[in-house]
Amino acid sequence: MDFAILADAFNKMESTRKRLELTQYLVELFEKTPQEVIARIVYLLQGKLRPDFEGVELGVAEKLAIRAISKSSGIPIKKIEEEYRIGGDLGHAASVILEQKTQTTFLVEDITVERVYETLFKIAKLEGARSQDMKMKYISSLLNDANPLEASFILKILLGTLRLGVAENTVMDALAIAFSGNKENRKVLEHAYNVSSDLGKVAETISEKGIEGVEKFEVILFNPVRPMLADRVKSQEESVERLGNNFAAEYKLDGERVQLHVEGDKVVLYSRSLENISSYYPDIIEKIPKSIQADNAILEAEAVAINENTGEFLPFQELMHRRRKYKIEKAVTQYPITVNFFDILFCNDKSCLDLSYKERREKLEKIVKEDEYAKHIPMAIVNNENDVEEFLENSINAGSEGLMLKMLDKPYQAGSRGSYWLKLKREYQNELGDSLDLVVIGGFFGKGRRTGSYGTLLLATYDEDVDMFTSICKVGTGFSDEDLDQLYQILQPKVTIKKNPRIESEMEADVWFEPELVIEVVASEITLSPIHKAARDQVRKDAGLALRFPKFTGKIRTEKMAEDASTNEEVISLYKGQKKVAHDKSLI
Ligand code: ATP
Repeated sequence: MDFAILADAFNKMESTRKRLELTQYLVELFEKTPQEVIARIVYLLQGKLRPDFEGVELGVAEKLAIRAISKSSGIPIKKIEEEYRIGGDLGHAASVILEQKTQTTFLVEDITVERVYETLFKIAKLEGARSQDMKMKYISSLLNDANPLEASFILKILLGTLRLGVAENTVMDALAIAFSGNKENRKVLEHAYNVSSDLGKVAETISEKGIEGVEKFEVILFNPVRPMLADRVKSQEESVERLGNNFAAEYKLDGERVQLHVEGDKVVLYSRSLENISSYYPDIIEKIPKSIQADNAILEAEAVAINENTGEFLPFQELMHRRRKYKIEKAVTQYPITVNFFDILFCNDKSCLDLSYKERREKLEKIVKEDEYAKHIPMAIVNNENDVEEFLENSINAGSEGLMLKMLDKPYQAGSRGSYWLKLKREYQNELGDSLDLVVIGGFFGKGRRTGSYGTLLLATYDEDVDMFTSICKVGTGFSDEDLDQLYQILQPKVTIKKNPRIESEMEADVWFEPELVIEVVASEITLSPIHKAARDQVRKDAGLALRFPKFTGKIRTEKMAEDASTNEEVISLYKGQKKVAHDKSLI
């Protein structure tokens, strides 16, 4: 398939933000796409090469891309950098530069989607000393044969700055229309995506076998399932109002969610955002097989750091020490954990998703044999507010964050934040009532004691509708010196020369970061803001929402991707909730 077709579709999509138009462009694109390339096109649309869980990362730095443009155009690096500064988009700068190309190429090879994809794939796989030179060679070979528009999109994909504003739901709408003529079939696609976590595979199947093929998607081992998420409640009363008088309460432990795929001695671990995290937990890989009494299984657990002497649960940050490539064995002994199982999604070659919570819990207890390392998460059946209160207290005393409340007769809803699971955290019971997970988009250099670090950070929410990150506050409190050091180490490699186009912020920062890192903050209030872009125009015209007195809680949410951060929808609902409380109080 000619890459020109894809570049043309990307170009049209970049010019609109309207979901219906985007869907239409996608439908037209899919109708022109041969079966063999549709999966690759779907990954490219999402700025990826493979589904997240395969961990194929492009990782090309701006500097290298600039050198490649220079090599293939014959134009000096300085001039390219100037052009880049004017427009703020290296892809666009490349297209302007290539228009003025001084070198002629004699043998122009056709540029196809297949060729671009294969080359990008090779670039992603390169490692080692000579990899930079090889990457540059590959990039400039593509640029040599590309026209300016094609070149601009190749670079945007490479740099991760392609911003088409297509959410997964829009892609699924378009697939349903293009291949089944009925948008309602999105539901079937959604289910397939939730159990496979692979939108490319879903696209390939519908294109090849129609909607009947997609209906057959099932959970399979060593292919992660998108996790079920919980809605939040603020009080014991609200939990009973929503769940009735017979439901399960479990400790909400403060660790890392791990999806374990186990067959014999083979164990693969996936994080909440479906990254393969097996290498951080060699102890789980080694110890868990003997606790599993089934031929194979997919289980969910919270890995929690513990104090070995007292058995007490330690906070999430302790697990951060395991995020390292080298000397992991040392970290394993220094920061011991327990694995606390709370769900089972697959067992002895069969999916358990449709079983009720109660049935799944029974199965879990039967299949996971407890020892000092593998545990069942503490659970109680509760009937009223007092029961909830009592169990909440026990849970907090044991060092956990609160409770997860779960309906007994409901299935596992992969990939959705529904109302079958609720979370009740201690901090929900005060002030704003909730912490938010926000994306770090910008930084301000510190002064005084904070020189040499980013003393203040600019944070954003995720706007799901347009796939953007919208500024919501600056945060400069709550950081210990150790936090500042650590954040500097993590953020410094994410600095970009220009603001990433997926960032929406009127506020200027000293430095801009790739929107990747998520941190947790609390605040006293959500207010209307003339500057910030979160939920702009959605509560009031010409105003966004901002956090008042935000404070870093000490949690760097490495297990969350930027797209898992708090959304504008969630912030609006907190804003409305807080207005309701204020109103109710004024009536007292
Ligand atoms: P949070 O920011 O509150 O940790 P989240 O956005 O990561 O939440 P939620 O579904 O909202 O995800 O909350 C559930 C999270 O709590 C899970 O991702 C898991 O890591 C953790 N957890 C701890 N104990 C349990 C439990 N008993 N059942 C389910 N999840 C649990």
